[in-house]
Amino acid sequence: MTDFDAHILTKIRPNHLGFGGLDRDNLTREIHHDPPAFLQQHIHQSVISPHWQLRGLFKGEAGQDNAPQAGFLAAQTVIDLVAPHRHLIYLGKRITDGHPEYFFTLDVSDIAEEALLSLIDIPCHFAELREVGPMVDGRDGSVLAYARAMLYWHGKHIYCGRCGQATSVEKLGHQRKCVSTNCGEMHFPRTDPAVIMLIEDGERVLLGRQAIWPEGMYSTLAGFVEPGETIEHATAREVFEEVGIQIGNIRYQHSQPWPFPSSLMLGLYATALTTELNINKDEIDHAQWFTREELLNFADQGKFLPRQLSISRRLIDDWLYQRHD
Ligand SMILES: [Zn+2]
Repeated sequence: MTDFDAHILTKIRPNHLGFGGLDRDNLTREIHHDPPAFLQQHIHQSVISPHWQLRGLFKGEAGQDNAPQAGFLAAQTVIDLVAPHRHLIYLGKRITDGHPEYFFTLDVSDIAEEALLSLIDIPCHFAELREVGPMVDGRDGSVLAYARAMLYWHGKHIYCGRCGQATSVEKLGHQRKCVSTNCGEMHFPRTDPAVIMLIEDGERVLLGRQAIWPEGMYSTLAGFVEPGETIEHATAREVFEEVGIQIGNIRYQHSQPWPFPSSLMLGLYATALTTELNINKDEIDHAQWFTREELLNFADQGKFLPRQLSISRRLIDDWLYQRHD
């Protein structure tokens, strides 16, 4: 059983897309390899989350619903879409009243979108999780994030990165193996860790903005963890590279899966040891210290923060309102 309650794991509320939402059922993945065959065994207890060009399926018409429901379709209604050349991946199961429900995701990118929607017997639409994600239920949104990340990984590992031969699917879509007998390299789904940090200096914090962001938007600094680096070193390095200050007292807070395309955001607080900014224009457009007062009246200055449910906004709001939940 791996359908853990995120609230129990941390005693704080999980970030959006970070609820878990499924028992990933690794024991089943060890026994079975072929996703279509496993689906056939449990066809009446299975649901499929189709994805078209990495956009997930949602019930109803686009833009009509403030709380769009994930399009988890009864498998027998869309079984004709499951073809050998499409990525079908077993995601895991949910147990309700003692009965398992098996979740799969399926890449249907090769069918024209309109034709595809006509094959599904309920009104639905495809949408980018990044856009509709904040409105989706936490557990279902977390499953969609997982599905999107897995499909992206499969799409990038059709061929072996070691020898260039084709790879085949194993472990119900959780492993690929090079078909070359000389190579046989195993490939596993990857996640890229990224640090995102709010730097404090007493009653003020450091926020920055990138030139491509909407005018007036400010957020926390962030960057990818490099190979051979700890989370703490990556945090200190990114801050120094972007704004030229030194930090200490780095404290990990919480994380957020961010499958756009394959990141895991690691949220941190840190304390400034030096405060004079030396902004690297190659990395960010602008950065500055904001007092609590200024942040509480951000709109008056024509500025705004990232949207709710992003880990950056969580870090800022928790600091601003001194929340610890
Ligand atoms: Zn190979």
